[in-house]
Amino acid sequence: NTSTTRSTQQWQAADAAHFLHPFTDFQALAKKGSRIITQAENIYLTDSDGHRILDAMSGLWCVNVGYGQQALIDAATRQLGQLPFYNAFFQTATPPAIELAELLAEVSPPGFSRVFFSGSGSEGNDTIVRMVRRYWDVLGQPQRSVILSRKNAYHGSTMAGASLGGMSGMHAQGGLPIPGIQHIEQPYWFENGGDMSREEFGRVAASWLEQKILAVGPEKVAAFIGEPVQGAGGVIVPPDSYWPEIQRICDKYGVLLVSDEVICGFGRTGHWFGCQRFGFKPDLITFAKGVTSGYIPLGGVLVGDRVAKVLIEQGGEFEHGYTYSGHPVACAVAVANIRLIQQLGLVQQVHDDTGPYLAELYKQLADHPLVVETQTCGLMAALQLGRRDGKGGGTRGQRFDESWSVGMVCRGHCFANGLIMRAVGDRMIIAPPLVITRAQIDEMA
Ligand code: PLP
Repeated sequence: NTSTTRSTQQWQAADAAHFLHPFTDFQALAKKGSRIITQAENIYLTDSDGHRILDAMSGLWCVNVGYGQQALIDAATRQLGQLPFYNAFFQTATPPAIELAELLAEVSPPGFSRVFFSGSGSEGNDTIVRMVRRYWDVLGQPQRSVILSRKNAYHGSTMAGASLGGMSGMHAQGGLPIPGIQHIEQPYWFENGGDMSREEFGRVAASWLEQKILAVGPEKVAAFIGEPVQGAGGVIVPPDSYWPEIQRICDKYGVLLVSDEVICGFGRTGHWFGCQRFGFKPDLITFAKGVTSGYIPLGGVLVGDRVAKVLIEQGGEFEHGYTYSGHPVACAVAVANIRLIQQLGLVQQVHDDTGPYLAELYKQLADHPLVVETQTCGLMAALQLGRRDGKGGGTRGQRFDESWSVGMVCRGHCFANGLIMRAVGDRMIIAPPLVITRAQIDEMA
């Protein structure tokens, strides 16, 4: 364990000198110094000063089975010894990749029996862009190439992923989005709902998709992509009326429906996949994170029968793939992870027990004078902070003028007191490991 070989200050100095962190103001971090995380067990992290921290974000929404699971460690160790790498290019395959493909078909929604592997969620969404355009090409409709997405969505950081995403800050850097990707407004009731009920607003928000399809021309629209619950955007849980209406609109115009389940997949919502929680049937599903509980990178696309049939029977060679598509060690860990989720009954536990328990606690927090909205979905939740002093009007309270700094202060306060929450502006969000117990939820709350 090298964590004890240097002091925190020595780690921070080396970090500042050499390591450019993702999504980080490099200079500000160098001044402040990062917090060095050295080990973890169950849902708790330990930093280089020995502090214990409850990780209510599962790392980056990924450590679904919690830290230190021996079955995953053993699977990786075994596979590293036996066959650390072989590719799936040029008519070869490895047993772990085949086994994982088979197991994914078992846990996926009906109509999904094929998978294309990538190394991450971003790469999975790059695959989505190429695959849906290829699908329409093969069907002799190459003009059907426009992909619709939503503002404040997060679909990754590669050129295609960040373009599909609707983060204005990302678009402003590097000339995004790439051509052929357009965005509609998100189903964020607190922000956009006005005086509508949630259900009414859900139908209105879905109608924005139909308006966009008509504006672009239905014959040009290839696909619509969305996260069942927008994660990085602030755990925006759509009204129940939203997704069925989106499905109806996509069906009406023949538009492919893509569910980005990088966060919502593998039990997070109390179902294996978020589309099952919201009652829609996508054509393609992007996954990553929870497939290995983040122990090792892996992502991909679950390909539904409609698309698979065309690509297999008429498509010829799909000229796309990654060195690490079907990496044997990653796949071995994923198999162990999915089996563990099954053995521990985690999906059912979130659905029947810990999800409803968290929802109950969050309902109580909704009365807090600094909280204007709470939302939960399985084991992901948001506290919208704001003021209820009536200034600014509205029945639902109002945002703080300094929304960014309010969130940052809260996040810093949590961190200093042994809890990792994330702040999206003034919206405080959590997504704890699915192994969290009721007692640990009490501790977190
Ligand atoms: N899609 C969603 C919904 C995500 O939340 C993320 C990452 O947070 C991604 C895609 C990108 O995944 P990765 O960071 O593994 O490339």
